[in-house]
Amino acid sequence: MRIGQGFDIHRFSDDPDRPLVLAGVTIPGSAGLAGHSDADAATHALCDALLGAAGLGDLGTFFPDQDPSFAGADSLELLRQVMLLVAESGFEAINGDITVVAERPKLAPHREAMVATLSEITACPISVKASTAEGLGPIGTGEGIAAMAVVLLMERSSS
Ligand code: MG
Repeated sequence: MRIGQGFDIHRFSDDPDRPLVLAGVTIPGSAGLAGHSDADAATHALCDALLGAAGLGDLGTFFPDQDPSFAGADSLELLRQVMLLVAESGFEAINGDITVVAERPKLAPHREAMVATLSEITACPISVKASTAEGLGPIGTGEGIAAMAVVLLMERSSS
């Protein structure tokens, strides 16, 4: 068994047309997050947890944010590629758990879709929890959204 953890944070974008994407789900009616890709902090944290558990480095190693080919990238596509890397390393995912820290928007109405989306791609149960920062710090004052993730991997038997 191998454990991995990941963290990511993105500030809200000034662009009013930028959609908010979290855990692969587009959430209407909220400001989007700024970033080179679609800025899906939850999926990025999960990717880093998977790469960390497999001893493969981090998301920036494989998908550098200076690389124009990843501009506006769909983070679910990055997650699919991370799962291929994890499989090539001889591991399969057992489960994952994500906490999204955000003052707004309310994530509860989207939680089921987030869980379904990430669980399908990783082929294991991924739980998504929402928390707030109780008004404290930059997340608490609504400047951005952070996410933390842990995953468990198991080495595939070579029989
Ligand atoms: Mg990120």
